[in-house]
Amino acid sequence: METQLTYYGHASFKLVTPRGNVLLIDPWLTNPLFENGKAEIDALERVDLILLTHGHFDHVGDSVAIAKRTKAKLVATFDLSAAMKAVHGYPAEQADMDTTGHFGGELGLLNGDVTVTFVPAWHGSAVMKEGSPPYYGGTPSGLIIAIADGPTIYDTGDTDLFSDMALVSRYHAIDVMIVCMGDHFTMGPRRAADAVQLVDPRMVIPQHFSTFPVLTGTPDAFRAELSKRESKAELRVMKVGETMQLPPARSRISNEPIGQPLT
Ligand SMILES: [Zn+2]
Repeated sequence: METQLTYYGHASFKLVTPRGNVLLIDPWLTNPLFENGKAEIDALERVDLILLTHGHFDHVGDSVAIAKRTKAKLVATFDLSAAMKAVHGYPAEQADMDTTGHFGGELGLLNGDVTVTFVPAWHGSAVMKEGSPPYYGGTPSGLIIAIADGPTIYDTGDTDLFSDMALVSRYHAIDVMIVCMGDHFTMGPRRAADAVQLVDPRMVIPQHFSTFPVLTGTPDAFRAELSKRESKAELRVMKVGETMQLPPARSRISNEPIGQPLT
């Protein structure tokens, strides 16, 4: 079996690895774009890991309810993990040190099936519960998800463009980049297209658009910006609820030192 990716709308995805492990990323399945969110949550029998990029409601989403039922472990930075337990009651025994990391560290998970690296994102990460002041959620992140028998995926999380995105592809050959481009709260199509150029993935999947009227960046505008830059990446706009097979890895993660010194 190939790696499978399901888009639930907004920034919410499911990954199923060739070995059958199930990962959710920013699982807000009850978002306004996905009519079947509640039914889909009920239908999730197995979830091994829930990966969160930051603490805002549109990313934390339904993660605690799903975790309580499926026993999924939380993959997040130290600060976000602490906030998820303290504010939202994420089960502590499912958010322990083995799945908690921080920037630059590589987490080997699920017996080597998945390796997750946290990279920075320019955004906020306040964790909020109605009626209480915001709780510190640490620095927001992007996620590099390397699947042992599958592709390496870079999910930018919510972010602006920043030049250090170029470092991602110096350490990982990115097969699939899941990039925010809806504008207003994140980079829009123009800046997102420049981010794609910095990362140089084979395939690009847009996220974080159309959910709210203020998110004005469209896939068409993004496509036009990629064309202007003569991007080699294949743009794949997923429909909400759609599942697709991801291409296999372009190359394995190299342990060779980077040829060019950083200056
Ligand atoms: Zn967001």
